[in-house]
Amino acid sequence: MSSLRQSKPEEPWQAPEGEPIIRIENVSKRFGELYAVDGISLDIHSGEFFSLLGPSGCGKTTLLRMLAGFELPTEGKIYIDGQDVTDVPPYERPVNMMFQSYALFPHMSVADNIAFGLKQEGMPKARRQERVREMLALVQIDKLAARKPHQLSGGQRQRVALARALAKHPKILLLDEPLGALDKKLREQTQFELVNIQERLGITFIIVTHDQEEAMTMSSRIALLRDGRVEQVDPPRRLYEYPNSRYAADFIGSINLIDGHVLSQEENRVRIRSEEAGCDLEVIHGQPLLAGTPVTLAVRPEKVRLDSGDAQLANRVSGVIKEIAYLGDVSIYHVELATGKRIQFTQSNVQALAEQPLSWEDEVVLGWPANSCGVLTQ
Ligand code: ATP
Repeated sequence: MSSLRQSKPEEPWQAPEGEPIIRIENVSKRFGELYAVDGISLDIHSGEFFSLLGPSGCGKTTLLRMLAGFELPTEGKIYIDGQDVTDVPPYERPVNMMFQSYALFPHMSVADNIAFGLKQEGMPKARRQERVREMLALVQIDKLAARKPHQLSGGQRQRVALARALAKHPKILLLDEPLGALDKKLREQTQFELVNIQERLGITFIIVTHDQEEAMTMSSRIALLRDGRVEQVDPPRRLYEYPNSRYAADFIGSINLIDGHVLSQEENRVRIRSEEAGCDLEVIHGQPLLAGTPVTLAVRPEKVRLDSGDAQLANRVSGVIKEIAYLGDVSIYHVELATGKRIQFTQSNVQALAEQPLSWEDEVVLGWPANSCGVLTQ
């Protein structure tokens, strides 16, 4: 997992005295019988790059549209900068939204598209032109000012939409799947630019995405949604290293989930009996767990390694390599244990040519330390 954020981000959500720029208080939205958003409470702080992440239909867009004012909550309150905006119309909120479709005016030039909102709010022409120049430079499309949207590539249209959304200097920018229309390479490059622009302007960005990698690389914090509720809110690294449920563990990156039950606990060292793995396993866990509690041990593939007699490896399992995926920088191996359970592990290919490569049907012993895995109870 990597982040595009250069400096150590401040963590305003840790400061108890810090007032959030957005407070979502027990907000629900019902469409007929369906709760698209079901009792969500969240505080988002000024300058955050906050992601709403989750699978299709979990309520991300509905929540974003309520922040913009395009939908009214069935229950609950929304505050922006301390003011109750629950019933305030979209154009009176200090927010702007960038739509997934970009929604550019086809008959207008790039410059006129960017100037549109400024003109509507009555900004004098000279200032408007200056602001448009600033925005064109910011998103690096100075040379395209006179073109019409149909004369642009998808990536260029995305920049125009971003420039238009930023032109009014909103306090908060809402972005609905902003990179959805771009190919992988352009997405990665644009992620970098979005983070750069957001850091430079200090505007609070709230982004909807179903792409966990995108959320991980760009965000200061992520709210992982499930069926209209918040499953976990944390900075990317914490969400990755310490998922608090099977759902969160499974949604972010790849992970091995091994079922079992608690056998015993000595201080923070928990012993788990796992029929699935065919052995006992150990994990470091701060909270007390009762013997017999059903649990799932979670270990990332990059934490699992080939056993070379390292005493640190409290956990050892043996099996046969059944699948190998070569990804260039790393390879992913699927190892089948005697119980039929498969464990994934990754190996960097730095020294691949010097070593005897692993092959299908090779018997291997894998291991991982007790402090490189987690234990999930839900
Ligand atoms: P996606 O990633 O597919 O856009 P999402 O997480 O943004 O999904 P929402 O668009 O918020 O999900 O929708 C959440 C649920 O609410 C879905 O089941 C959807 O069908 C339903 N829904 C959304 N808008 C309406 C509406 N106007 N009328 C009825 N149901 C709606």
